[in-house]
Amino acid sequence: MSEQKSNGVRYGMVIDLDQCTGCMACSVACQQENNVSFREDETDKLRSITWLEVFYLDNGKPYPEHRKAYLPRPCLHCDAPHYPPCTFVCPVSATHRDEETGLVNHIPVRCIGCRYCISACSYHARYFNWWDPKWPKAMEQMLTPQVSPRMRGVVEKCTMCVHRLQLARERAFMEGRRDLEEGEYVPACVEACPAKAMTFGNLFDAHSEVAALAKSPHAFRLLERLGTEPKIYYLSTQDWIRKLADNVVKSG
Ligand code: SF4
Ligand code: SF4
Repeated sequence: MSEQKSNGVRYGMVIDLDQCTGCMACSVACQQENNVSFREDETDKLRSITWLEVFYLDNGKPYPEHRKAYLPRPCLHCDAPHYPPCTFVCPVSATHRDEETGLVNHIPVRCIGCRYCISACSYHARYFNWWDPKWPKAMEQMLTPQVSPRMRGVVEKCTMCVHRLQLARERAFMEGRRDLEEGEYVPACVEACPAKAMTFGNLFDAHSEVAALAKSPHAFRLLERLGTEPKIYYLSTQDWIRKLADNVVKSG
């Protein structure tokens, strides 16, 4: 996975919905890796933070035509030609797309908590911190040292585990390399998926697995007609999933 190609790097992901079993290992791995705090009572979903949400899809038909599926949704790291909608509206430049990698980042210490970006995101991929982060005492020992916890009053979202990219670059540098190999930088969700439903890599690298999968005739993106150019692709051979995933998702 060369990071020095003349046309740059565009990190992205393909999620195969026909493989996903809805086990939520990806969501839990994300929560743990990125020090996403939780409260004792998480029943108020309007206040909880889940960078990678797994939605339940249902074709609404009675048995024997009844079918269901699951749709994991991280931040889609939109690649719209000028700006992703969330970065465009931020009045203090607390979020931006890194033009080298295509990753959309958020800078909590700059964020003033106005939540414009939450309104602008077409995918409900951003979350507001209503409380100071807190973990049970035993869990404080297990926080990821490279990821700063976010404070009350700021927004947060999936970073595609960008700290892992930094670590991979540092490792490559120590070995005298400038380029990363395919698979050297992988987000925690992809690593955790037991069904191997998630494939991650450089969409600009024609030889990468992720680029090949994104070109599949079964590939699609959420709300593609909005022109947000998400870098998360989905795969499904089932028409009802493709239709539903583009229009309606209900939390499961
Ligand atoms: Fe921004 Fe939402 Fe797109 Fe992520 S999915 S880049 S938060 S608009
Ligand atoms: Fe689906 Fe894999 Fe996530 Fe489980 S870990 S919900 S199988 S994508």
